Amino acid sequence: MSKVYFAAARVKKWKYAESLPGKLERLLKNIDLSGYFESKEWVAVKTHFGSEGAHRIVRPVFLKKVTESLKMAGANPFITDTVRIKGLDYLEVANQNGINQLSVGVPVILGDGLYGNDNIMVTSGEILGEIAVASVIHDVPAMVVCSHVKGHINAGYAGAIKNLAMGGVSSAHRHCGWKCGRGAMHTIGEGKLIWDEQKCTFCYNCEEICPLDCIEFKDGAMTYDNERCWRCGRCTRVCPEGGLTIPGDDELFMKALSEAAAAVLSTFKPRKVLYINFLTEIQPECDCMPAADVPVIQDLGILISDDLVAIELASIEMLLEAKPLPASLAEDENVLNGDDILAKLHHKPYRLQIDEAVRLGLGSRDYELVELD
Ligand code: SF4
Ligand code: SF4
Repeated sequence: MSKVYFAAARVKKWKYAESLPGKLERLLKNIDLSGYFESKEWVAVKTHFGSEGAHRIVRPVFLKKVTESLKMAGANPFITDTVRIKGLDYLEVANQNGINQLSVGVPVILGDGLYGNDNIMVTSGEILGEIAVASVIHDVPAMVVCSHVKGHINAGYAGAIKNLAMGGVSSAHRHCGWKCGRGAMHTIGEGKLIWDEQKCTFCYNCEEICPLDCIEFKDGAMTYDNERCWRCGRCTRVCPEGGLTIPGDDELFMKALSEAAAAVLSTFKPRKVLYINFLTEIQPECDCMPAADVPVIQDLGILISDDLVAIELASIEMLLEAKPLPASLAEDENVLNGDDILAKLHHKPYRLQIDEAVRLGLGSRDYELVELD
C-alpha cells in the first residue's frame, strides 16, 4: 500500500514547527530523502512559475524548504519550469512571483531553453504517439514535482498529473511544431482557431494574451498566424463571449494528460520521483491564466508521496470533504456543502485522469494517509 504523508494547514500552536513551512520541513525530514536521492545527484524541483497576474502558485518559502531539505540529503537541486510565454519574460514572471536564486537558494532555470524548443521526442501512447519532453526534465536523473492543486477549465482538477504533462512537455518542437507539444493535448485535428464574428465584441483580450503575438485585428476581422500558433488555447479561454474556439475534446484531453505524464516519467528510474501537492490557495483556474481568482476552498495542507496516483487520489478525496468558500466563484455558482466543488464549477469528469494513470501503471489507488503529529 502506498503512503501519502500529510501536514494540515491549520495552525493550532504559535510556534514555527507548527507553521505550514515548519510542517513541510518536518515532513521532508521524516521521509528520509537520502532513500531517493544520491549524494551530489542533480534533482529538478519542478514547479509552475504562474503568470504576471496569477500569483497563487506554490510559494517560494515552500520551494526553499524543499531545496534546503534536498541539500541536507546531499543532493544538488535546482528549480525548473517549461516556457509558456517568451523565455526571458517567463523568468521575469518567476522573479515577480518571488521565485529566484536568492529566494529559493538554488538556480532557477527554464527546462526547455529560452525559446521553449529545447526538447527530446519521447514515445507516449495511442493518443499522442510521441511528445516533446523538455530536455532538462528528460536528462535529469531525479525530480521532486511540486504541484499547486486547483481547478482547470478543461481538466476540472489540476494537480501533479497536469503539472507533469503540461509542465514537462514543451509548447513546440523545432521540427514538428505544436503537433508534438502541449497543443497536441489541447486540441484535435489541425486545431485551427474558429472566430465567430457575430459573437465578438472586439474587447481584444485574445490579442493581448497571445504569448506569440499571433492574433491581429484588421479591418474589423480577426486574423492569426496559423503556422506559429502553439494551440495553447489561452486566447479562447479569455474570450468572454465564446467568440473564439479551438476544436477540442475534454475527455481526450484528460486522458492525454496522463499519457504525457507517463512519457515524462518514462525517463526516470523507479523511486527517483517524489510528489508534493500543495492544497493551498485552491482557486478555480490554471496558474497560466492572466489572473488568479480568490480560493474556492480553504487551505487544506501539503501531501507528499512517491506514488502519483495515490497523491492525486488523496488530494481529490480531501477536496471532496471540503466546504465551498463564501465570496468566491463557488458561491456565484451556488455550490453547496457536500457538493463536489470542482465538478460543479467545471462540469468535467476529472477522475478520468486518475483512471488513465492507473491503466498506464503510474501508481496505485490503494493508499494510507499518514498525518504529521
Ligand atoms: S492558441 Fe491563441 S493564444 Fe495560443 S498561440 Fe495560438 S493564437 Fe496565441
Ligand atoms: S476575446 Fe473574444 S470577444 Fe474579445 S476580441 Fe477576441 S474573439 Fe472578440
